[in-house]
Amino acid sequence: MILKPDYNVVSLFDIDYNEIGQSEIKAILFDLDSTVMPSKSGKYPEHVLSLLESLSKSFTIAIISNNKNKEYIAKVQSMSDFPVIGHANKPSPKVMREFLELVELTPQQTVVIGDRPLTDILAGKLLGAKTILVDSITKDTENKLTRFVRKLERLTIRK
Ligand SMILES: [Mg+2]
Repeated sequence: MILKPDYNVVSLFDIDYNEIGQSEIKAILFDLDSTVMPSKSGKYPEHVLSLLESLSKSFTIAIISNNKNKEYIAKVQSMSDFPVIGHANKPSPKVMREFLELVELTPQQTVVIGDRPLTDILAGKLLGAKTILVDSITKDTENKLTRFVRKLERLTIRK
C-alpha cells in the first residue's frame, strides 16, 4: 500500500537518529505545521528547535511545507539556518526533488518526516525516499473534529 509509512511513531523524539545516521541517509525533510510546530503558530517549541539544530550538524535538513503564505514562511526561516521552503504542493514530490538536486543528494539518501499520510508520506513515497509518520505535535489539544478527520485519514494507511 503506497500510503503506508516505513515507520510510524508518536513523536519526533521517538526516532532513533543515531541509527538513521549509521544508514545511507544523509537528508531529513520535515513537514512544518503540526510536525515541528503547532499549526500556524509560527513558533518552534524550544526542544524541537534544539533537536533540529543539532540534527543539522550531522544531516542536511530542510522544512518543506505546503503553506503558501510567504511572510509566514519567511518568519519561520528567520528562526534558523536550515532552509524552510513553502508552497511545496505535496503530495507532489517536485519541490523535494529540486531541493535534493540542489544539495546533490538522492531520494535513497533521504527520509521524509510528517504528520499527514495523504500529503507528507505520499510525497515521500513518490519521491522514492524513506518515510516516517509522526502524530501531530498538538494531538492532545486538538478539537474533536480535527481528531476525527485525522483518524479517518489514518484509516487509509492500515494494511
Ligand atoms: Mg503537517
